[in-house]
Amino acid sequence: MARTTPPRPLDVEAYFPEVTPFRRAAVRLHPRVGAPGARDSSVGGPVLWPASQPWPHCEDAHPRTAYSPPKGDTGPFPLVPVLQLFASDVPELEFPTGTDLLQVLWCPFDHEAGYVPRPEVHRWDSSRADLEPASPPRPTAADDDYLPNPCVLHPERVTDYPNWDLPEDLSDALEDRFDEVEEETGWSYWSHLSVAPGLKVGGYPTWTQDPDWPTCPACRRTMEHLLTVNSVEFDGASWRTWLAAEDTPTAGEIWDLGYEERTRIQRPPGLMLGDMGGIYLFECPSCPDRPFAYRSDCS
Ligand SMILES: [Zn+2]
Ligand SMILES: [Zn+2]
Repeated sequence: MARTTPPRPLDVEAYFPEVTPFRRAAVRLHPRVGAPGARDSSVGGPVLWPASQPWPHCEDAHPRTAYSPPKGDTGPFPLVPVLQLFASDVPELEFPTGTDLLQVLWCPFDHEAGYVPRPEVHRWDSSRADLEPASPPRPTAADDDYLPNPCVLHPERVTDYPNWDLPEDLSDALEDRFDEVEEETGWSYWSHLSVAPGLKVGGYPTWTQDPDWPTCPACRRTMEHLLTVNSVEFDGASWRTWLAAEDTPTAGEIWDLGYEERTRIQRPPGLMLGDMGGIYLFECPSCPDRPFAYRSDCS
């Protein structure tokens, strides 16, 4: 079943024409718990991997937190499949020549950088003869919060307008109008009209704190947002415009559903990153080796 974000309840560009130049296309991936195959786009695997290549492991030192490896176990730890995307499912995603399969794997323990899992991006040509369903060792001792449930995806194109990423002078200039419109219509620019929440490709990161865009170490340009992995598809405010039509209960509200039924819609991968925060992946497509960086925050 497709997943459809309802049209925004008001015309953002008519109310706030100043944000129009900053619109960006985004693809909501709408994960739902399922049984994806290794040749499907998915969250939580299974994924394809070249038979000739060893499965990646993490050899980092890990800080002592609630999400540490067992005491005394220094690894190396097998990475966990988080996201697999085929170009045919997300044509908006730009692939370097000779590749059409993108994977995000991560080490499911806290790392010094942001106290979240450490992600890696891998790309392949899906027509390679030696790609096989990977059978990485099952991670032991990692917390379920960092191990995504296998999910199928339902990519949907939407338009993002920046919220935390609005230029500061514009944000200041629009502040009163945002408040007035919210008072008049009940719709908050921040929660309801600007940035699509949830797992997404492109658009704006779903920052819950001040933006922190990385700079490319090679060319010094600001890197581009590749994709966001976060904890929830919507929260107690944003559900009013971002809950998919197909998931909207015919009677009552999403919050009237039982915990399990609601969780299957609100956070199907079952991830909990930095207390409802996210992990934001960036890269520099201008440089030949596509330098990669990530950021994270918590709410
Ligand atoms: Zn690690
Ligand atoms: Zn660069």
